[in-house]
Amino acid sequence: MILVSIRISDIHFFVLDIKLKEPFAISFKTFTHAENFLIAIETEDGLVSYGEGAPFKPITGDSREDALEFLRRVINDLRGYEFSSIDDVHELLVKSKKRVGFVSQTVLAAIDMAIYDIMGKKRNKPVYKVLGADKPHIVPNTITIGIKSIEETVKSAKKLMDEFRDNGLRRIKLKLSGELEKDIERVLAVAKVFPGEFTLDANQGYKDPEEAVKLVKRLYEELGDRIILLEEPCPKGDLEKMRYVKEHSEIPIFADESAATIEDAAKVAEAGAADGINIKLQKAGGIFYGLKIAEIAKEHGLKLMVGCMLETGISISAGIHFASAIKEVINTDLDSDLTLGINILEELHPFKNGCRIPLDNPGLGIKPVRHIQYILEDKLRITRIPLNIHRVSY
Ligand SMILES: [Mg+2]
Repeated sequence: MILVSIRISDIHFFVLDIKLKEPFAISFKTFTHAENFLIAIETEDGLVSYGEGAPFKPITGDSREDALEFLRRVINDLRGYEFSSIDDVHELLVKSKKRVGFVSQTVLAAIDMAIYDIMGKKRNKPVYKVLGADKPHIVPNTITIGIKSIEETVKSAKKLMDEFRDNGLRRIKLKLSGELEKDIERVLAVAKVFPGEFTLDANQGYKDPEEAVKLVKRLYEELGDRIILLEEPCPKGDLEKMRYVKEHSEIPIFADESAATIEDAAKVAEAGAADGINIKLQKAGGIFYGLKIAEIAKEHGLKLMVGCMLETGISISAGIHFASAIKEVINTDLDSDLTLGINILEELHPFKNGCRIPLDNPGLGIKPVRHIQYILEDKLRITRIPLNIHRVSY
């Protein structure tokens, strides 16, 4: 994809803390805040594009400190850099990575989405069209419920059904704890009140693959195809265990933490350890690498889902365009912008008939609300609760 060359005139970097409406628990961590960062890339001809990073070391491989340090060390490679394709930018970043001796996947992702935004704006096309799709490929999107008691989970499911009634909510994703009986009971309790479909995510909670097999067998017996998939049943990287579960399961098994980067995804695919891969732009290093993972999945006949970290609408918009351009995607889990309780964009990508729909505006199609835009353009410095944003100068 060749463009006339574009020169990056500057990059600005912001720390973004968002207090969650309620704590969010997965099998090995409870989050109270999203600790993200934003970048703004300015081009010589006056375009400003945004990207976001949502680091969490056990999943993306980097912390926000790592991301800050990586950006500090590579920012001068990017300032004044002239590129004519996304490949150029990633080639430069590979060189930067070699020079500094480490990498931050979330910085790669944030830069990548801002560059795709610029390319879309230059070509007057939404990013999904830049990626080669004429029409968006639309699939059901889950809204996630973290680990809670059975009663609280049922209550949350009813609340989501109410809150997203007009959006046609079709799928709920439940985080599992790794405690077999409790997990089964919880899923079945929610299945009684919510008539739709489910995806499940064990986040490595089942140390013993036999237990995970019992889980999928019982749930398949009770709910059949209403369970679309189960993510990452066993400890990360233990592909033998994942393959064992996969071979004994009617429910498709998807690798998430075990398939972070292209190298990991290739290992999962070659080991035949999963039926599908959960691509998250934050762990993959952006759309450029997400496409390469999708290629590997396609070669091995694997399905895909596109997931997220605790991201605002900026990064989620990149996920929506990416998912909309890939036919192998059967499910999206792009919900954090809908549930964070704070919105920093003028308009979110619609959640309609249970699916996320990409906006047709050029680029990522997003515009920050005015006070955020003023901060990003350095015209205003404020701190707000529950959102705290401040500039980091390099
Ligand atoms: Mg997952």
